Amino acid sequence: MPLLPLVGHDAAKAQVQKSLAEGRLPQMLLLVGPSGIGKQRFGLWLAQALFCEGADRPCGTCRSCLQVAGLAHPDLHWFMPVPRPKASEPDKQVEELAEAIGAVIEERRSQPLWQPADGLAGHFVATARLLQRRAALTPVQGKRKVFLVAEADRLVPQESSPEAANALLKLLEEPPADSTFLLTVTDANRLLPTIRSRLIPLRLGRLHDGEVERFLADHAGASGMALGRMVSAGEGSIGRALAAGDDSAKATRAVDELLKAVTSGPAGRAERALKQGPWAARGDFTAMLDALADTLADAARQAAGGRARRPLPEALSRPHAVSALVTAQEKVARAREAAQGNVNPQLLLMALADDLAEVL
Ligand SMILES: [Zn+2]
Repeated sequence: MPLLPLVGHDAAKAQVQKSLAEGRLPQMLLLVGPSGIGKQRFGLWLAQALFCEGADRPCGTCRSCLQVAGLAHPDLHWFMPVPRPKASEPDKQVEELAEAIGAVIEERRSQPLWQPADGLAGHFVATARLLQRRAALTPVQGKRKVFLVAEADRLVPQESSPEAANALLKLLEEPPADSTFLLTVTDANRLLPTIRSRLIPLRLGRLHDGEVERFLADHAGASGMALGRMVSAGEGSIGRALAAGDDSAKATRAVDELLKAVTSGPAGRAERALKQGPWAARGDFTAMLDALADTLADAARQAAGGRARRPLPEALSRPHAVSALVTAQEKVARAREAAQGNVNPQLLLMALADDLAEVL
């Protein structure tokens, strides 16, 4: 599956194209901007522009453009944070790291909407070594190589040895003339000053809500109210909007499960309540209560002759009186209020489930 289109960033694109046309594009760029706005995607677009054999770069249709879109250009070297290599021998570490990166790229080919790397992933000494090795290679296809380094601030200073930073610094101090380096970061101040000073910053801003909305509608299958909620939670970041969508899908599943337990009798209710961690995941708990209130409001709307915004969970498919659903909503609202305080969510849920069972 080819890469999803680059959304927005028109001013930065125009700036890059102008520099390219004038032959003045810096060899080392730092793409700076909030997370989830498409910095990697912009870097890949820039790589396309650099490799493109067409007239209007990037043309999107020449061999090189298509190779970048398929993450298969031999002179594009994309480095993203991966787990720390386990091998102790340096050469083995580099091998392991190259494999891990290859696996991530393979995954992104099949799943072009990706999640941020987990917190433990980073760039290590082996990353700097692999970068050095690849930088020393002659371009396979064209005249140049492009290195895209994601989340460059995750360059992990090694235990008591600044080796990784030094190796990278050496490369950036004397970059091979045939190579362009694109490093991405959310906050330039988190880079080592010695590395930052080598790079020319290019700032990428938040997207417009309309751009986020169109992208989610076209590529994430979102629509209606859910889409609106995702866009507003995203605040100009597709990544944030997608994460909000995941959270609300999770809350919806939790609601379905809870309502099933409520209508299944006392044993099912107790079982569900016990599954609720006594203190953990307060955010998830309140998100579930909010989604539950939404679902009950939806059911009340339908019971009053209107239309539900989403299909109701099975547990609510039996007709209910509007008054019962409104009472249930009130009980959820009270629990939601109590959840703000220092109350054990497990006990709260047990009481709420019993309350709901009386009216549903
Ligand atoms: Zn092209």
